Amino acid sequence: MIRYIDDMQLTGKRVFIRVDFNVPLEGRRVTDDTRIREALPTIRRALEMGGKVILASHLGRPKAGPDPKLSLEPAASKLADLLGAKHEVILADDCVGDGVKKQVRELKDGQVLVLENLRFHKEEEANDEAFARELAALADVYINDAFGTAHRAHASTAGMVPFVKEKGAGLLMRKEIEYLGGVLKNPEKPFVAILGGSKVSDKIKVIESLLPKVDALLIGGAMAYTFLKAQGIEVGKSRVEEDKLSLATKILDAAQRLKTAIVLPVDHVVANEPTEKGVKSETPDRAIPADLMGLDIGPKTRAQFNQHIRNAKTVIWNGPMGLFEVEQFAEGTRTVADSMANNRGAVTVIGGGDSAAAVQQMGYGDKMSHVSTGGGASLEFLEGRELPGIKALETK
Ligand code: ADP
Ligand code: MG
Repeated sequence: MIRYIDDMQLTGKRVFIRVDFNVPLEGRRVTDDTRIREALPTIRRALEMGGKVILASHLGRPKAGPDPKLSLEPAASKLADLLGAKHEVILADDCVGDGVKKQVRELKDGQVLVLENLRFHKEEEANDEAFARELAALADVYINDAFGTAHRAHASTAGMVPFVKEKGAGLLMRKEIEYLGGVLKNPEKPFVAILGGSKVSDKIKVIESLLPKVDALLIGGAMAYTFLKAQGIEVGKSRVEEDKLSLATKILDAAQRLKTAIVLPVDHVVANEPTEKGVKSETPDRAIPADLMGLDIGPKTRAQFNQHIRNAKTVIWNGPMGLFEVEQFAEGTRTVADSMANNRGAVTVIGGGDSAAAVQQMGYGDKMSHVSTGGGASLEFLEGRELPGIKALETK
C-alpha cells in the first residue's frame, strides 16, 4: 500500500519533498517551467497542511562536484514567482551539512527551503548509505513527487526512505501511479495500445507486457517496418532492425496464439530523404518502393487506427507514428492524438518522452486523461517493472 500526502498529518513536521526540477536552462533562465508548475499542487498542499517544506531535486549531469551552471537557483526563483508573495523561497548552498541543518531548524511557517542540486554529490547516484542518512536526518516525513526519476535507485529516491519516519507519494506521483497502474491492472475493455517510435528493441518489453492485456495492438512509426519486413514485405530504404526480424516474427506468432490483433500499417507516407526537402508521396499499399523510405503512416492506416481508437474504452499510446519533428511527416501522429482526444468516454494515457512532447506540442495535452511526465520511467512502468522509487514508498 502507498500512502498519499492527503492522508497524512503534516502540521509542524519537516516535510522533505523529492521533486523533479530538472528543467531546461539557457544560462540562468528556465526555458520551460512545466516541471516546476507540475510540482506546485503537492508543494501547496504541504504548506496548507502546516508542514515545513524542504525541496530536493537533481538538475542535469554535473561531472565533478558543484557546478554553478547547474545550480537550482533559477528553478528556485521561478518557484518563488509561481508561489507568490505569501511564501518565501530560500535556496540552500548545499543539500547536506551543518549549514543546511541550521537552515532547516530555522525554517519558519510558510517558508520553503530548496536544497542545492543533489548530484553535486556523487553519493546521490551511487545511492550511498551515509549520504542517504544525512538527507533523511533533515526530515520527519518523506514525500516523493518526482515520477521522472522513480526508475532510478538513488539516495533521494530510494536510499533515504527507510531512514525517515513517515513516507508517502505526492499528488503528481499519485496521478502517474493511478493512470499507468490503472491501465495495466484493470483497464475497461476494449483496451487498445498504440506503439510506435524509432526502435523495436526499445519497446520489446512493453510489447510483451501489453500483448496479453490488450484487445488490439496498433503498430506505427519506424518499428512497423521491422514487423513488415519480417512478413516478407518490401520496405525500401526504411529503418529496419535486421537483428530483430526473428523476434518480430515471434511476437506476431504470440499475438496469434493470444488472439490479440496486431494491426500493422497498410499504407505509408514515403520520401527519398527524411527531411523538409524530402519529396513526399503515399504508397497505394503495404509495400515501399526500393529507393524510398517510410516516414509516417498513410491515410488508410490512419483511418483504421482511428476506428480502433474510437471504439476503445481504454487507450494507451507510446511512440510517435512517424518522423513528427518534420511537419510533412507529422500527420499520423496528429491523427492518433486527435482520435484519442475525441474519444471522451475512454481513459486515454500517453507514455514516453517523445510521445508526450508530440502531444503537448500539437496542443492535445489537456485533452487526454493523463500524459505521463516520466519518459523512461513510464516505459519501465509499462514493461511491468517495479520502479525503485515507487517500491520504496510501499508500506505493509
Ligand atoms: P518515446 O520517447 O515516446 O518512447 P521513441 O523515442 O521510441 O518514442 O521514438 C521517437 C522517435 O521516433 C521520434 O524522434 C520520431 O521521429 C522517430 N520516428 C518515428 N517514426 C519514424 C520513421 N518512420 N522514421 C524515422 N524516425 C521515426
Ligand atoms: Mg524517446
